[in-house]
Amino acid sequence: MARRSFVAGNWKMNKTPQEARALALELRAGLEGWRQGDVGVFPPYVSLGVVTEALKGTPIIVGAQNVFWEKSGAFTGEVSAGMLAASGCACAIVGHSERRQYFGETDETVNKRLKAALAQKLKAIVCVGETKDERVGGTTQQVVKRQVAGAFAGLKAEEMAEVTVAYEPVWAIGTGLTATPAQAQEVHAFIRQLLAERFGTGVADSLRIQYGGSVKADNAKELLAQPDIDGALVGGASLVAKDFVAIVKAAK
Ligand code: PEP
Repeated sequence: MARRSFVAGNWKMNKTPQEARALALELRAGLEGWRQGDVGVFPPYVSLGVVTEALKGTPIIVGAQNVFWEKSGAFTGEVSAGMLAASGCACAIVGHSERRQYFGETDETVNKRLKAALAQKLKAIVCVGETKDERVGGTTQQVVKRQVAGAFAGLKAEEMAEVTVAYEPVWAIGTGLTATPAQAQEVHAFIRQLLAERFGTGVADSLRIQYGGSVKADNAKELLAQPDIDGALVGGASLVAKDFVAIVKAAK
């Protein structure tokens, strides 16, 4: 089945609002007229407003790097899905490995964040992936299976229409080590099979699975040519407009 590509830039904790606006304007110019795939950028919370404004009238979606599950209240430092939606956000990343590694994110909290995002009509990118020790220890499939089951617990098939999965091997994120196209394809196909078992082949065939982990302009084409790789979640290379534009345009 032909799936539309989706390339997303995770800016992580980079760029002041002024710098974020400048990058958004560069992307706007670089992707002028590009309609062959979906593109999203995920700036820090404080830059969501300026980036949304800078990209107004373009098909580039703006999303948040995280979302909290409660609606409002005494949760210092958190931002709710409703607040994101009201700020022009269209999407949220949940379960990024840096959140799991440094901020105690678990499969259960990923599930709560995902449900909160979907309840506010946000799209979501759900990240899964194994660490280096898990890959070396031969437990990649076991880990990914647990993460997929945890993230999507209690979800209905129709809710999956707004979900993208990002397979991001932790050992490849920000390290310059990229999974080979064959390694990535193997896990993508496995994830699609898990989704088919859980939600049926209709959902599994239409859901997009991005690859993430040191995607660059020079390796994007080969990765994105794999049958089950439908786009990319890009960290470092999304901070340089010409590199990100090249990755977007490498998508099938
Ligand atoms: C990411 O942040 O999701 C990521 C894949 O980072 P990088 O492209 O820098 O490895």
